[in-house]
Amino acid sequence: MDKRAYLTQIPSVDAMLAEPLVKELLEQFPREIVVEGIRKVLNTRRSQILESSDPAQLPQIDKSQLIAELEVLVKSQMKPHLKYLINATGVILHTNLGRAPLSERVCQRITEIARQYSNLELDLSTGERGERYAHVEGLLRRLTGAESGLVVNNNAAAVLLVLNTFAQGKEVIVSRGQLIEIGGSFRIPDIMAKSGAILKEVGTTNKTHLRDYREAITPNTAFLLKVHTSNYRILGFTSEVSLEELVQLGQEYHVPVMEDLGSGSLIDLSRYGLEKEPTVQDCIRAGVDIVTFSGDKLLGGPQAGLIVGKAAYIEKLKKNPWTRAIRVDKMTLAGLEAVLLEYLNPEKAIQEIPTLRMLTMKLPELESRAKDLLGLLLEAQHRTTKTDAPAQPCGESFSARILDDFSQVGGGALPLQKLPTKVVAVKPLRFSVQRLEERLRAYDPPILARIQNDELLLDPRTLEISQFSVLAEAIAVICKSL
Ligand SMILES: *Cc1c(COP(=O)(O)O)cnc(C)c1O
Repeated sequence: MDKRAYLTQIPSVDAMLAEPLVKELLEQFPREIVVEGIRKVLNTRRSQILESSDPAQLPQIDKSQLIAELEVLVKSQMKPHLKYLINATGVILHTNLGRAPLSERVCQRITEIARQYSNLELDLSTGERGERYAHVEGLLRRLTGAESGLVVNNNAAAVLLVLNTFAQGKEVIVSRGQLIEIGGSFRIPDIMAKSGAILKEVGTTNKTHLRDYREAITPNTAFLLKVHTSNYRILGFTSEVSLEELVQLGQEYHVPVMEDLGSGSLIDLSRYGLEKEPTVQDCIRAGVDIVTFSGDKLLGGPQAGLIVGKAAYIEKLKKNPWTRAIRVDKMTLAGLEAVLLEYLNPEKAIQEIPTLRMLTMKLPELESRAKDLLGLLLEAQHRTTKTDAPAQPCGESFSARILDDFSQVGGGALPLQKLPTKVVAVKPLRFSVQRLEERLRAYDPPILARIQNDELLLDPRTLEISQFSVLAEAIAVICKSL
């Protein structure tokens, strides 16, 4: 058969639309998407024919095959693009993976407020207009010791707002060792420029002294800014000015001090064997006028930028029209309030807030989890190979073992922290580990894991126990099928 004969076999769009199975699709999915799908399927077939160098090898046009392709295409169009996934990387806070996962209880609160009307901006005692920030302000005061607090979209917005409110056309003094970049798009010098503030760098990359700040203060100084070097450390011949010294200098010259704390923990994690990080309470106690930090890093809540500090400053921030433009929605507030409520009982918070639970998980628990996962993997391998026993006499499609490794905090927090863990290392026997990693990423739900040498590492720290069997099944099926 020549190409033209094949081409005439391709049905018309109308003929496809008249097919009973396509009619069924039309009942479930929008007509526009079905018609678009038909065109795509038919065009693909047409191109295959036209581009074929050996038309005799082309298969017959099979309508049911075309309809099957159409169904896959239409269904994929109607599937959400944003998917939950299984994180086996051991990186607890990963911006690309949505940072902090929330607990069931927090999600319930978000759903409850999202589904119904609420007193978002209503003072129920007077019946008059209220402030949306009121729902978390009391908690922020109690937990941080600050006079007042405010919440905006994220910490980048919080920093921008503070700079714009107090430093437009004025100078902000920052150490050269703290001119950070976070995840590419947040850079202190750029944020400073956008806010209208003038960056006044002092000191050097490795050393900044109190006198450097002192000499830089002029009548046009808006404030002294300390930025937490979240995702790196300067080691060796270094010195930084402590927050206490900076506050003292600020008081001497009547210049406020602001700190961008980045991750902003409310619990002293050194009590759980982690590196000492300044808590928000520490900063407030040291006398800082304004502190900003993220809601979805170590705090373990929804994406938000929290600002706490002296009441007079917070009041001024509220009056900046930018605050309205970067305000948080009711779902964020519901989630944040629920997470902050957990912090009223710190011992419980460690267990109830997923980020903190993962961060403080002990080695014996990790080991026992790794063993469970390994067991499920071997069981799944056995189950899947039994079915094709004649074709694969020796059966094994992958090997797996437990290894010592390290998890990572991520999210620009505790960059040097080593978190010892036990991982399950999987090695496919019939193809490359890269291939396995790709196939897992394309799985439903997608599964993300790290490659080290020739093995795929599965870290139980960032996995939920309920995900173990899904993971085991996925690996066994993929390793067998490839
Ligand atoms: C993460 C971080 C930011 C940005 O916070 P987002 O909540 O991601 O907007 C700003 N400053 C520091 C020091 C950070 O660590």
